[in-house]
Amino acid sequence: MSNLTQQQVLSVHHWTDTLFSFTTTRDPAFRFENGQFAMIGLEVDGKPLLRAYSVVSPNHDETLEFLSIKVQNGPLTSRLQHLTVGDSIVVGRKATGTLLLANLTPGRNLYLFGTGTGLAPFMSLIRDPETFERYEHVVLVHGCRQTDELAYKQQITEEFPANEYFGELLSEKLIYYPTVTREPFRNRGRITDLVRASTLVSDIGLPEISAENDRAMLCGSPAFIADMREILEGLGMREGNSSIPGDYVVEKAFAERA
Ligand SMILES: Cc1cc2nc3c(=O)[nH]c(=O)nc-3n(C[C@H](O)[C@H](O)[C@H](O)COP(=O)(O)OP(=O)(O)OC[C@H]3O[C@@H](n4cnc5c(N)ncnc54)[C@H](O)[C@@H]3O)c2cc1C
Repeated sequence: MSNLTQQQVLSVHHWTDTLFSFTTTRDPAFRFENGQFAMIGLEVDGKPLLRAYSVVSPNHDETLEFLSIKVQNGPLTSRLQHLTVGDSIVVGRKATGTLLLANLTPGRNLYLFGTGTGLAPFMSLIRDPETFERYEHVVLVHGCRQTDELAYKQQITEEFPANEYFGELLSEKLIYYPTVTREPFRNRGRITDLVRASTLVSDIGLPEISAENDRAMLCGSPAFIADMREILEGLGMREGNSSIPGDYVVEKAFAERA
């Protein structure tokens, strides 16, 4: 049996000229945990061209959703950005990844820090009631350059609170903090600066981030992850994984290629 399945594109949404999302059918046998990623891609010259993608949709949905960058000369996304409804994509049968609730030790508040497409795994985690059952507050911090890159902003603030399955918990516990670096907006600046200067916690009215009370998940560029790791380690937080749960867990939103 092949380790890949063919799925059909059900919808496509272009957020900007460098960012889009799409939904597909889901193989009923495809199981994943919220926060995980899978290998997806296209058949090119008879061979699968695959890349890692976090699953945006929660695992209770019957369809799959992905949020994608458009890299103009990127082997996959130069093609993937032209997807239309009815096209086929290839989806790996296995999902994996470290951004799992089980990889964190218990804590009071959960911070989800994402830049760019690093929002993707958190979109599934904030639609999982268990995320809210484990924490008093769940703080979703999404950093981008411009406001039109704040994908799913309207869904998070308007649609999700009305969801009959997770809406009540989300309304009660989710604090959504979008921030941009390159144009005027109510929250401005890099996530790392907003954390270092305590602007984030003072804006949302929570105590200083501490190893005692807080847990974190990071998903963003390699540079963002390196800086955030330094900040969290400086607070005495320890990184977790599937063998040893910790105070924070990390997934790169993409790898730098030479
Ligand atoms: C664990 C993991 C999860 C990932 N999840 C996602 C996801 O949910 N959505 C997504 O769009 N990509 C995601 N990626 C990146 C993805 O695997 C591909 O790199 C991306 O789709 C571009 O593919 P490509 O073949 O067009 O170009 P590639 O040759 O893969 O990349 C070319 C260059 O583009 C830049 N780049 C690639 N991806 C991104 C990105 N997401 N944001 C900003 N710059 C980027 C990097 O500088 C990279 O070196 C993930 C990567 C990893 C390792």
